[in-house]
Amino acid sequence: MSEHPGGNEPVVIVGAGLAGYTTARELRKHDRARPLVIVTADDGAFYSKPMLSNALAQHKAPADLALKDAGAMAAELDAEILTRTRVAAIDPAARTVTTDGGRTLAYGDLVLATGALPIHVPLEGDAAGAVISVNHLDDYARFREALPEGGTVLVMGPGLIGCEFANDLAAAGHPVHVVGPAPHPLDRLLPGPAARRLQRALAELGVVWHLGTTVAALQRTGGTFRARLADGTGVDAHVVLSAVGLAPDTRLAEAAGLAVNRGIAVDRYLRSSDPHVYALGDCAEVEGLVLPFVMPLMACARALGATLAGTPTAVRYPPMPVTVKTPACPVVVCPPVPPVEGTWEVDEDDDGVRGLYRDRDGVLRGFALTEGRVREKQALVKEVPPWLE
Ligand SMILES: Cc1cc2nc3c(=O)[nH]c(=O)nc-3n(C[C@H](O)[C@H](O)[C@H](O)COP(=O)(O)OP(=O)(O)OC[C@H]3O[C@@H](n4cnc5c(N)ncnc54)[C@H](O)[C@@H]3O)c2cc1C
Repeated sequence: MSEHPGGNEPVVIVGAGLAGYTTARELRKHDRARPLVIVTADDGAFYSKPMLSNALAQHKAPADLALKDAGAMAAELDAEILTRTRVAAIDPAARTVTTDGGRTLAYGDLVLATGALPIHVPLEGDAAGAVISVNHLDDYARFREALPEGGTVLVMGPGLIGCEFANDLAAAGHPVHVVGPAPHPLDRLLPGPAARRLQRALAELGVVWHLGTTVAALQRTGGTFRARLADGTGVDAHVVLSAVGLAPDTRLAEAAGLAVNRGIAVDRYLRSSDPHVYALGDCAEVEGLVLPFVMPLMACARALGATLAGTPTAVRYPPMPVTVKTPACPVVVCPPVPPVEGTWEVDEDDDGVRGLYRDRDGVLRGFALTEGRVREKQALVKEVPPWLE
């Protein structure tokens, strides 16, 4: 076997989300001997985050979503897993990390898989701090605890995650209000006709849309909340859920002096500006691309697992369409990556919408499909050029 990038010194992975755990699994496919330590701020339970926005209608409690606990993961991965432990600092020159408990861990190679942080919209009112963002199983458990049977939910943000939660909550019998500044849901990803069909299907399920406006203030009123929207409307809700977006968590990398743009800047080998520090998943910007989805991080983890086992491997991104989990109106979207000037060609019939996004040279760079037209995904994806060759 060829030499490891960091010899046989430990690999330390910060983060036990899909990016951290999948990298560990991929490393173990090639090498069961290299010492491996995973440090995570949470309890280390393995779960599939996409399940958080469609668990309710499937009658799954938060505990049902944890597929394996940290002990089972440690055994599977031949790893030491430090749970409820935060890495507080990295010293790239000494190749060590320090935990919040003051422990220092030496690494040969360090993998940052620290995920993303919810963006907070500043609100007026005494209940501004009660808004819940769901970006982790623990957040989801808090959300479910706060949500009474049949309780009303106000969702801030009509994007992908906001629409998925709206569909799931409405399907489970909750009154749902969705607020956002755009004229249609999923405005940035879908052509108008596709967005309108999604909007109509969710409205038929009971979702009340407040589009073209934002939440300005949130007050407590007894056991519930009263939101005042910028257009003057008032909305009462038991729980307010923010789905306005996430930003890569680059704090550790930045403090350590590593190159950071929108995410932790890494090359096709997932290598940061320090040759022994790698990053992937929601915290990373791979060759200029921030793609906070499961398929890209899986591709990165496969490449990085091989690299850490001694075979430097560059990541390649084929086009990776995203399935929006809105069963009321199935949607598949393949955004243009990297973003490129172009126009939508839209074809709509009873079966659904097919939007083809072509650049100025007529090359298919992305597409959006709804309802029955989602069947066309496999054929179309073959026509789209790779995102990263
Ligand atoms: C509700 C929801 C639904 C989604 N649905 C889909 C979908 O249908 N399809 C899709 O492709 N994508 C979906 N996504 C996106 C996808 O789930 C994420 O891209 C992916 O899970 C990110 O994984 P990650 O490991 O990079 O980050 P995370 O899962 O956020 O993991 C970060 C880890 O880092 C740890 N950590 C952070 N800082 C430190 C520190 N200093 N010290 C120690 N540990 C630290 C955390 O405790 C955590 O274990 C969804 C996201 C959400 C929120």
